[in-house]
Amino acid sequence: MNQRPVAFIDEKNCIGCAICIQVCPFDSIIGAQNFSHRINFNECPGCKICISKCPTDCIKIIKINQDKNDIKKRVKFNYNRRERRKNNIEKRYSESIEKQLEEILNYQK
Ligand code: SF4
Ligand code: SF4
Repeated sequence: MNQRPVAFIDEKNCIGCAICIQVCPFDSIIGAQNFSHRINFNECPGCKICISKCPTDCIKIIKINQDKNDIKKRVKFNYNRRERRKNNIEKRYSESIEKQLEEILNYQK
């Protein structure tokens, strides 16, 4: 077993502002506006981006035990998923509004 960092939310001080969800590059935070949020430890590689954005300072880094191979697998998976998402967003931005509209209308048929 190895140790790795993950973010942890002290839920009693979370005001449910959802800022952390918007800034997390790994989609590791679960929660809805006005409700307390939680970190999905399986998805969080402990990048710390959310910590500086939280207005109530209720996110900190803790260490959890995890098998080395599992850590490698997780980090790779998260990285690839983020890249795919980035590429999809770039592709979407590069498409014309007419093409996007056509896709939406065809989808609803
Ligand atoms: S530490 Fe990084 S990956 Fe983990 S929840 Fe915060 S922003 Fe997301
Ligand atoms: S940024 Fe902080 S206060 Fe806002 S939802 Fe996330 S953990 Fe809660």
